[in-house]
Amino acid sequence: MTLETDDIIKNEALGQLSEDDDSEEDSLKAGTLLGLIEVEPYSSCPMSQCKNAKLKTEEKDGKYLLRCHKHGQIVTDDAAELYMYARFHVQTSDGKICNLVAFLPILKLLFEAKSKKLNLTLDKQIIERDISSLLPFPLRYHEKNGKIEGVCFKRAASHLDT
Ligand SMILES: [Zn+2]
Repeated sequence: MTLETDDIIKNEALGQLSEDDDSEEDSLKAGTLLGLIEVEPYSSCPMSQCKNAKLKTEEKDGKYLLRCHKHGQIVTDDAAELYMYARFHVQTSDGKICNLVAFLPILKLLFEAKSKKLNLTLDKQIIERDISSLLPFPLRYHEKNGKIEGVCFKRAASHLDT
């Protein structure tokens, strides 16, 4: 579980390092987010160069400290940012089911599309409840290494009235 989390975060960092925006529109796939497999909220490093790295808890003199393994320093509780990912069962346009991960920026877009707001909390149950309330969620998406990197969908009806 912990190893898997680290792998995903590493994948995310790699994904952001290699820029290939030019063919993004062509590579959109159609699918439906069917079910939520898991959510993982965590404290992340606020420094932009660390790309939301997950902070590791360490104990020193009976106190718990958060350290960023990317830049190597302790991050205070106040400075740490909440980040998360969710893993979904996704039905693709050819009827197959795969599972894909979406990180916080994508999750926020899903909520915006339904005119809802995602609670930024470390409480998994609240996040699971909120995300599940959006499903099933048909969309078009850009995928890389098992991760949803971009989404495209119709806005909620209330946005179309204007
Ligand atoms: Zn850092």
